[in-house]
Amino acid sequence: MAKALVVGTGLGGLTTALRLASRGFEVEMVEKYHQAGGRLNQLKKDGFTWDLGPSFFSMSYEFDEFVKFCGINMPFEFVELDPLYAVNFRGSEKNFLIYKDLKKLAGEFESIEPGFEKKARKFLDESGKLFHDTFDKVVRRNFNGYFDYFLSLSTVPWGHAPKMVRNVWDELGRYFSSREVKEILSLVAFFLGDTPFKTPAVYTLLSYTELEHDGYHNVKGGMYKIVEGLLAELAKKGVTIHYNTEITGFTGNGDKMDSLIDSKGNHFKADTYVINSDAASFRGKVLERRKFSEANLDKMHWTMAPLTLYLGLDQKIPALHHHHYFLGNNFQEYAGKIFKNEIGLDQPYYYVNTVSRFNPGSAPEGCESLFILCPVPHKLFKPDWSDREQAADGIIADLSTRLGVDLPKHIISKTVIDPDGWEQAFGLHRGSGLGLAHDLNQIGAFRPSNRDEKFGNVFYVGASTLPGTGLPMAVISSKLVTERILS
Ligand SMILES: Cc1cc2nc3c(=O)[nH]c(=O)nc-3n(C[C@H](O)[C@H](O)[C@H](O)COP(=O)(O)OP(=O)(O)OC[C@H]3O[C@@H](n4cnc5c(N)ncnc54)[C@H](O)[C@@H]3O)c2cc1C
Repeated sequence: MAKALVVGTGLGGLTTALRLASRGFEVEMVEKYHQAGGRLNQLKKDGFTWDLGPSFFSMSYEFDEFVKFCGINMPFEFVELDPLYAVNFRGSEKNFLIYKDLKKLAGEFESIEPGFEKKARKFLDESGKLFHDTFDKVVRRNFNGYFDYFLSLSTVPWGHAPKMVRNVWDELGRYFSSREVKEILSLVAFFLGDTPFKTPAVYTLLSYTELEHDGYHNVKGGMYKIVEGLLAELAKKGVTIHYNTEITGFTGNGDKMDSLIDSKGNHFKADTYVINSDAASFRGKVLERRKFSEANLDKMHWTMAPLTLYLGLDQKIPALHHHHYFLGNNFQEYAGKIFKNEIGLDQPYYYVNTVSRFNPGSAPEGCESLFILCPVPHKLFKPDWSDREQAADGIIADLSTRLGVDLPKHIISKTVIDPDGWEQAFGLHRGSGLGLAHDLNQIGAFRPSNRDEKFGNVFYVGASTLPGTGLPMAVISSKLVTERILS
């Protein structure tokens, strides 16, 4: 039986391990953290439970494809969100509710964007066409070099070409004039870890996936149920996992990797190695490839970092929606400066997940568990996070004002993770939360490949290889790498 060693138990690692186990591989996994899941992790403290990172997902059909491939039942339950989320702008009491139903959504925007429904219909028809013209040809496939990539791009109708040069913000400006509508619809760029001013307009296809196609989904019992479900399936297949085990070295023989070595000097041997650690930084830090040296990694474009807060409150906060975005009134200036650390966090933009609203078991009776995510500069732009408590308190103060609730009085549990913490826990380069950004020169054949350049038996899966970041992309990534390995 061929043996595969998977380094990392992020969603990409877990789903690849199960795909390979279902095709007869003996699979062993190693993980530097003390439990599985990578960024899709869990924190338990003071009687509360929080998902560490992801709080909803799109493209549920990618999980359908995955379970079908593995011949298993869906190991967790998910529910479509409606409304998808709420958005508040500083200084206003209005919360815009983002519905998938265009008529209902138009009701939210009619006063600020007359004719919204018609404009949105046109915009979504266009982004839907883009999605269906590119998803299978460009997103869900492997490329054997640049020629293959450009060949496949050439089969995409040319009408979409201007979206390669425009950014998301300019594309939205072709359909909508209201500042609020454009800012809300451009949040999809932040889901990719960058601003709408830098993200190519091709990613407006995500507006179609969120508002029309498959929407967003919550997981019953919390997002970590995905990991627990996958672990149960892996256990049935006899997959072993070594936690607190960080790979730091290797031995190779010509064009084959011989073994991977952990920080304690243990050797792990296999026929095939799948790396779920970041595809760019692993090549540099462990395989010592010059192209991915520290200096060259820093020249690449990395997504923003997360500053995350996990709060346990002694009372419910009815004014909060389940998924709630809190934006300011200086969007363009803030987005242009914040990730380069050229503006302070005194008027922060952030997202709140009222975890216990959908998942009551995550907080003691009568209490509320909140997750707050504030996108901040990664460590190349802001290396010192000794002010993290101050930054966190600023966010809590802003939220208190906006909700009219004195939150600090009600906090009975508080944990803050800054970019340093994210980097140390999961080996994220400079604490970048979503891995490599999705500029045109960092996607497709330009993204670090899922097949190693030197060792024929080494492959990569996860956010910084094909196709990109986010939970459904990690599942697609496992499909693509498995196809490579099986072929
Ligand atoms: C704060 C936050 C919020 C997010 N919210 C969402 C969301 O709502 N929806 C969504 O779809 N996506 C979201 N994402 C993105 C999503 O979490 C990631 O894209 C996805 O989980 C990445 O999975 P991955 O397969 O790349 O593995 P990772 O999660 O990166 O896991 C890799 C694993 O490898 C381990 N590892 C690394 N190096 C080594 C080594 N040398 N030896 C051993 N083990 C190693 C790490 O410890 C880690 O466990 C969010 C991300 C963050 C940070």
